Amino acid sequence: MDFKFTEEQEILKKSVRNFMDKECPREYVRELDEKEEFPFELYKKMAKLGWYGLPFPEEYGGSGCGPLDFIMVGEELCRFSYEIGAGYGVPIFNALTLLHHGSEEQKNRYIPKVVNGEMMWSIALTEPNAGSDVASLVTSAVPEGDEFVVNGQKVFITGADVANVMTMAVRTDKDLPRHKGISMLLVDPKSPGIDIRVIKTLGRKIIHATELFLEDVRVPKGNLIGELNGGWEVLMSGLELERLFACAGYVGNAQTVVDDALEHAKQRVQFGRPIGTFQAIGHMLADMQTEVDAARLLTYRAAWMVEQGIPCIREVSMAKLFGSESLARLTNQGMQIMGGYGYSMEYDMQRYFRDARIITVSAGSSQMQRTIIARQMGLKVV
Ligand SMILES: Cc1cc2nc3c(=O)[nH]c(=O)nc-3n(C[C@H](O)[C@H](O)[C@H](O)COP(=O)(O)OP(=O)(O)OC[C@H]3O[C@@H](n4cnc5c(N)ncnc54)[C@H](O)[C@@H]3O)c2cc1C
Repeated sequence: MDFKFTEEQEILKKSVRNFMDKECPREYVRELDEKEEFPFELYKKMAKLGWYGLPFPEEYGGSGCGPLDFIMVGEELCRFSYEIGAGYGVPIFNALTLLHHGSEEQKNRYIPKVVNGEMMWSIALTEPNAGSDVASLVTSAVPEGDEFVVNGQKVFITGADVANVMTMAVRTDKDLPRHKGISMLLVDPKSPGIDIRVIKTLGRKIIHATELFLEDVRVPKGNLIGELNGGWEVLMSGLELERLFACAGYVGNAQTVVDDALEHAKQRVQFGRPIGTFQAIGHMLADMQTEVDAARLLTYRAAWMVEQGIPCIREVSMAKLFGSESLARLTNQGMQIMGGYGYSMEYDMQRYFRDARIITVSAGSSQMQRTIIARQMGLKVV
């Protein structure tokens, strides 16, 4: 067993940290959150450093790195905001799906643009009546000549207002069993017939959740990813790495939550001594750091298994469940340690708290992760 990074990984990790400290310090993230602004320029700078190409083969301008390297980058990007990492990760996952299932023309059309940092990408699955049960989606795509005609509604779609392409799950055959009649399409968010509205949310101010209304939207048949009615397999194939990247982001942000709370506990004096020297606070911080380390180990174990090609549905779900619940809990404890200052908009803890509240729901809720784990243990839970 070896818990050490390679020399190259250490260099990459350090360069991501240095870049983020310079280009995306906490003051900048705070400003983005307040102004509800998407940092296009930041992502262009990341692309110039080659980070968007990390997991892609050289023929598409990438450097072909493994899941562990990628996870490590995610952890560093999310130190001050989970959202910053998500803005980087989402185009990459979607392009990776295309790499595995797309036509040569689609790959050449999109992947080099992702590598160059020119593509913002959304994934549109959820509908008003299809949340955790995404296979019950009803947005329809009906073939007509060289096109599909798409009608329906999507909800809670991250970043569709800033995206230049979306991967959308649609129903192409309503007579087939529900998982079998779904297809995945590449959709231009600016197509006539698409109305995109921003949903006001408690957190996630940098990359908005949006609602899409689709009326007779025409999508070329050449934008079908993989087989007609084969969308479920396309969707499932990329899920592990995507969830793991989210887990790495939770860990990165969780470490900052603990660091900020610790710093406050060392500086803040009450009753003539730093509050961290009260055992109640010191023990809380010890538990918090233990949770972060446990979440990190679960994440890295699963990433290692993905890299080795070992099936790891159970391990990925465990990392997602524990990592998301930990971060949500830790931000609450961080606010407790910081007292009134944690609640003040002048400090970052309230933002971590707002952003973390949703992670036990999004990307597969905690309840769904427990169901997956229990099934992997041989239980027929529903
Ligand atoms: C900020 C944000 C960003 C998002 N980004 C995207 C995106 O980019 N693309 C996209 O497609 N979607 C996105 N989503 C949607 C997200 O994936 C869904 O919110 C999530 O799948 C849950 O669906 P729901 O909100 O409809 O809740 P529901 O599915 O209605 O669940 C409500 C509650 O019931 C529980 N529940 C449901 N079914 C079961 C069950 N079988 N057993 C036990 N408990 C159950 C859930 O765990 C939850 O606690 C986003 C959501 C948010 C809030």
